[in-house]
Amino acid sequence: MKTQLIERQAQIKKLKQQEFDCLIIGGGATGVGSALEATRRGLKTGLVERFDFAQGTSSKSTKLLHGGVRYLEQAFKKFDWNQFNLVRDALAERKNVIQMAPHLAKPLPLIIPLYQFWQMPYYFSGLLMYDFLSGKQSLGRSKLLSLKQTLELFPTLNTEGMIGSVMYYDGQFDDARLNVEVAMTAIECGAAIANYVEVTEIIKEGEKCRGVRVKDTLTQETFEIKAQIIVNATGPYTDSIRELDQPTTEKLLKVSSGVHIVINKSFAPGEGALLIPKTEDGRVIFIVPWRGFTLIGTTDEPAKVEDNPQATEAEIQYLLKYTNQFLDKTVKREDVLSAWCGLRPLVSPTHAAAKSTAKLSRDHTIITSKSGLITITGGKWTTFRKMAKDTINKVFNQLSFSSTVNSSLSLIPVMGGKDFDRNELDKQLATNVDDEQIRSHLINYYGSRSLIIQEITKELGVERLTPKYPFITAEVVYVYRYEMAQKPEDILARRFRLSFFDSQTSQQLKERVSEIISNLQQVPIEK
Ligand SMILES: Cc1cc2nc3c(=O)[nH]c(=O)nc-3n(C[C@H](O)[C@H](O)[C@H](O)COP(=O)(O)OP(=O)(O)OC[C@H]3O[C@@H](n4cnc5c(N)ncnc54)[C@H](O)[C@@H]3O)c2cc1C
Repeated sequence: MKTQLIERQAQIKKLKQQEFDCLIIGGGATGVGSALEATRRGLKTGLVERFDFAQGTSSKSTKLLHGGVRYLEQAFKKFDWNQFNLVRDALAERKNVIQMAPHLAKPLPLIIPLYQFWQMPYYFSGLLMYDFLSGKQSLGRSKLLSLKQTLELFPTLNTEGMIGSVMYYDGQFDDARLNVEVAMTAIECGAAIANYVEVTEIIKEGEKCRGVRVKDTLTQETFEIKAQIIVNATGPYTDSIRELDQPTTEKLLKVSSGVHIVINKSFAPGEGALLIPKTEDGRVIFIVPWRGFTLIGTTDEPAKVEDNPQATEAEIQYLLKYTNQFLDKTVKREDVLSAWCGLRPLVSPTHAAAKSTAKLSRDHTIITSKSGLITITGGKWTTFRKMAKDTINKVFNQLSFSSTVNSSLSLIPVMGGKDFDRNELDKQLATNVDDEQIRSHLINYYGSRSLIIQEITKELGVERLTPKYPFITAEVVYVYRYEMAQKPEDILARRFRLSFFDSQTSQQLKERVSEIISNLQQVPIEK
């Protein structure tokens, strides 16, 4: 099988040479989603990301595809029709994302513990409405569970004082891997996309934005990219790009930080997740099975914008406190295998955009500046396609031509989701990958693209990078050649996710991965 390589240098060349209809700044969920939508609708599209794809907020989410149980509660309390619509849209998107990336996303049962009888009709009726709003896009029916049934799904739950639980379905996905696959799919569809390219200046012709000046942060080279329309999809950095466009512009965002911790699967060995609906300070915490571990989060603290926000000890202790309250096992500080912090780009309630009708009807905000810069911010991972569609509609509003492709047709599978058939893939991989754990890992991470890794193993053999996990040498080669990974951390954190669930082992593998990358850089790629 010969599949097209995705080389960063070739992408940079296209960015330098072409004149784009639309250039997107930011390679998180919002940016790559917009790039895919724009390319599919016939626009000549470019995208630049300052670090690696998903290195910002988009790799640090709770990894839930959710309609927003809390939004629904608000919709009920205020009888707010816009909120109902918001929930309904997000509910539909859960299923769309699962269809787009069946290897990376799946339905997840979640339980809400009940302690008082009044909670039973309260939560259950709300969740029946959640099911009703999802209509044909439902992921499964909500149910009331007895204590025994609850423990089957979540065996280590502390049931003291509990009378049962209510179970409902949302989706779960791998955020950074989906981010990378959406970006690579957009490249396959014709977009020019590169990581480690930072926008340093917005170029104008008269009053209008007509391009950007960028710096390739791997080579330090600077160059210009020409484009009719510029889209600012920089998440927490939204205001810094708006200031490049208009230095006196009013700040749009207030940023808050959200921390997650990861502990061993043995602390929560079931298939279900737990939702703690209300902490003493009114937050929601999830305890979720993820990639063979248990993920717990999140916090919500005012924060400043920085490149590498860190989880504070107080935030880790806060999450441990609630985990220990709800589990019948004690989780100690040394059981925390990894902790990370993401920044939420929240539109400031005092900004005019927050008060507009558009803001009321959806949780993302799109603003077009005088110079034509389109800023898209807020929202959530679950609705990244909807955000992309709304953004590209705004792009078309400014262009002198319209799209010939209807956006609703854009539900195409990402690279690894094409021709995805788990059993068939396993059968094919088994011809030379004997280890069942490795086969299952490759399918869960790369979907149908695991067959390319199989080709590479024919040359390199099936060699584990560590006896602890099923990552293999051939995978490093794959993500370097086909997913634009440039640095060991791109591979260990955002392609393998290892830094997110076992930071110590990730650190140990850094040198080995670095060595493989250097060898690959010295060998010209055979086309
Ligand atoms: C703690 C937490 C938990 C969450 N959990 C969920 C969840 O479970 N489900 C859900 O649906 N949503 C969740 N979200 C929301 C979701 O993660 C975000 O809405 C989404 O990731 C935002 O993506 P983005 O592309 O807008 O921002 P980002 O991912 O931050 O991307 C912006 C990118 O722009 C780049 N950039 C900045 N400046 C420049 C420049 N000058 N040049 C080039 N590039 C630049 C940055 O490097 C960055 O990669 C969560 C958010 C947080 C913080």
